[in-house]
Amino acid sequence: MDPHSYSNPGEVRVRHISLDVDVRFEARVLEGSATLSFDAPQDDTLVLDTRGLVIHAAEGASADGAWHPANFELGAEDGILGAPLWVHLAAGDRRVRIAYTTSPGATALQWLAPAQTAGKQHPFLYTQSQAIHARSWMPAQDTPAVRVTYDARIRTPLPLVAVMSAEMRHGAGEHHFHMPQPVPTYLIALAVGDLAFAPLGARSGVYAERLMLARAAHEFADTEAMIAAVERLYGPYRWGRYDLLVLPPSFPFGGMENPRLTFVTPTMIAGDRSLVSLVAHELAHSWSGNLVTNATWEDFWLNEGFTVYLERRILEEVYGADRARMEACLGRRELERELGRLPPPDTVLHLDLKGRDPDDGCTLVPYEKGFLLLKRLEAIHGRTRFDAFLRSYFEAFVFQSVTTNEFVSYLSKHLASDGICWEEWLTAPGLPADAPGAPSEGLSQVEEQAAAWLDGRLPLAEIPASSWTVHEWLHFLRSMPQPLPPGRMQELDGAFFLTRAGNAEVLHQWLLMAVRSGYQPALAALEPFLISVGRRKFVRPLYEELVRTPEGRDLAAAIYARAREGYHPIAQATVDAILKVPATGC
Ligand SMILES: [Zn+2]
Repeated sequence: MDPHSYSNPGEVRVRHISLDVDVRFEARVLEGSATLSFDAPQDDTLVLDTRGLVIHAAEGASADGAWHPANFELGAEDGILGAPLWVHLAAGDRRVRIAYTTSPGATALQWLAPAQTAGKQHPFLYTQSQAIHARSWMPAQDTPAVRVTYDARIRTPLPLVAVMSAEMRHGAGEHHFHMPQPVPTYLIALAVGDLAFAPLGARSGVYAERLMLARAAHEFADTEAMIAAVERLYGPYRWGRYDLLVLPPSFPFGGMENPRLTFVTPTMIAGDRSLVSLVAHELAHSWSGNLVTNATWEDFWLNEGFTVYLERRILEEVYGADRARMEACLGRRELERELGRLPPPDTVLHLDLKGRDPDDGCTLVPYEKGFLLLKRLEAIHGRTRFDAFLRSYFEAFVFQSVTTNEFVSYLSKHLASDGICWEEWLTAPGLPADAPGAPSEGLSQVEEQAAAWLDGRLPLAEIPASSWTVHEWLHFLRSMPQPLPPGRMQELDGAFFLTRAGNAEVLHQWLLMAVRSGYQPALAALEPFLISVGRRKFVRPLYEELVRTPEGRDLAAAIYARAREGYHPIAQATVDAILKVPATGC
């Protein structure tokens, strides 16, 4: 059913994974064993997903019996899927134990040298298992259709601390983890570094490098209020604790919703809590995505479209309706740009990813087009009924994985499916005619001010920019014609010091404009930005913009030669494709 897994959960279904692993920074590998427990098998072979793993041995055992050697074969490596591992089972086997070592190029693992951390003293390791990278650090049935509980014993060099998406117990050089709620393997996460912890509330807190800790705790102060807001709307938080981990700036994503322990980029720490929609988003995944999970990566919009909808409902509860409307308006504009950029098949909500890397499906489409579908359903049924439906959906499929078809038939049964053309929404490219608009009065004003400045009716000094939030800034800059002549760029920079913007979102937008217009003073800030930040949302558009001209391409190649080493393998793959760097493999 899942085109991105070799595994055979229909015959043998893994229920629990037990990891026992050494973290070896010098060799950049994890080494140890994974013990997988399963139900009574319907077949004598357990098929697992792996990528780049060296398998030393396999053993089998009954539920509580002694270990015996098991025969195994490792298949050929496929560029997207990795290699299948066949383990032959003896009668009565309910567990297999596999001794293995990861490869130094494992796609889930980023090994950072001390210089790439905030503290500069110790190395750092973190994992990114979504979509199909868990298989590069453990043999597993690596499909979101299979959920497992897990425990782990992780040994690290002193004084480093290991954290995971689980209950944690720390010791000196050995850390113990236990995850009682079943999760798909893409939500198993590990990070190791010189980490410290600060509490935010009774059930929430933040882990970060010591130097970042105080700033992080200040930025995330509204986390408890956000948890309370989602619970009022959609039912109890079911994962015990909700902690955040601030990663070094190479983290390729904004956030990753690892249960109990959201991973976030430090680029969202702006000092003024203006980018905390990211926390709302990752927290919302505790319901949409982690509690109810897309069964395959073709159903990814079930995770992300629902989560963007929930995210904006949280923002409305905590910060008011204007803020939520501004975020929706910016999202809608970005979606329209993305739809213009992507080939039509990639603008479909229910994607066909057979033969493709599921990371290819990670565009704005599942997020923002999915959000618009839920807004459309809200408009048809009314908010009260739609909220009650969402609560019942999370309850009905709790700790399960669902397909798009299962969602549609559940909705048809419990809410009625008339008023919406499913085919148009789910399988047609672009935006359906009944996609709701996303107006924002605040942003319309900004748009008028931008136009008035451009045609000379309003001097910059009269624009009320000192009271603007990041949303107004982004909208103002995106309302400018592209490219904006360098003289006009100079005027904006002189008035607002945009080349020195402390907010990463604003600086990124400004640098994009600088590349388009060839505005030299800001281009000098481009290299430090691209070397220090590996977040794919920022990195990809800048390289894409650079390669449009021959000089830009040269500049991109020169910067990338210095920046590549600092990027996570997922971001490296993205930029390699833009610059057409030949693949080096695992
Ligand atoms: Zn998400």
